[in-house]
Amino acid sequence: MDLVQDPDLAYVHFAPPCGTCSRAREKPLSAALKQQGLTGPKPLRDSTYPQGLPTLTGKDLEKVTAANNIYKLCCSAIRTLHRRGIAVSVENPTRSWMWNMPCFEEISTLLSGTVDFQACAHGGRRPKWSRFRSALVDLSPVARLCPGDHEYAPWGATRGPSGWAWSTAEEAEYPAVLCQRVAALAAAHVSKLGWQLQAPGPLEVPSPPARTLPTACSIRPGSVADL
Ligand SMILES: [Zn+2]
Repeated sequence: MDLVQDPDLAYVHFAPPCGTCSRAREKPLSAALKQQGLTGPKPLRDSTYPQGLPTLTGKDLEKVTAANNIYKLCCSAIRTLHRRGIAVSVENPTRSWMWNMPCFEEISTLLSGTVDFQACAHGGRRPKWSRFRSALVDLSPVARLCPGDHEYAPWGATRGPSGWAWSTAEEAEYPAVLCQRVAALAAAHVSKLGWQLQAPGPLEVPSPPARTLPTACSIRPGSVADL
């Protein structure tokens, strides 16, 4: 929580983990994958129990409790930042149960901006729906849908050298183009505040694999390229 007290903050983005909140857990496995002996992840939350099903035990309970603690920490940080007049945004899948957590519902009016978008509208390989909720910064240009001019990478699981890998894990990464667009909006916000950027040149967009934003990253004067 030291970071949210930093005097040089202008904008903070939160990308809390979404694995235990994923609605992909509700999708049945394909017959082909079942035949190969794969058992899919089970739902850990639902609309009645967004904080975790009462039947959870063992590792599942541990994972849900750890995720809930992160969500509560994010909400607490967002409240503090909002009181300080600092712009914030927070991201999770559009249908994530995280948005139904009581701690997020309590700050719903504070997070006045909501944009939904598909990853492949920002350079992603799949039409995954994500949501940004924000305060004190305009992220509306991010609300873009699939242009419908390309093939999607398949969903599901593939077996690699280190075992099965779920496509949803690949989609947890932000596409590079999305990072560049959000960074540009953040830079515009910082400029409006009258801050001088030391590195205002075009951001370098790496080719795949896409960059991942850390759980919480901040923008300080001259460090927009770090986003
Ligand atoms: Zn698309």
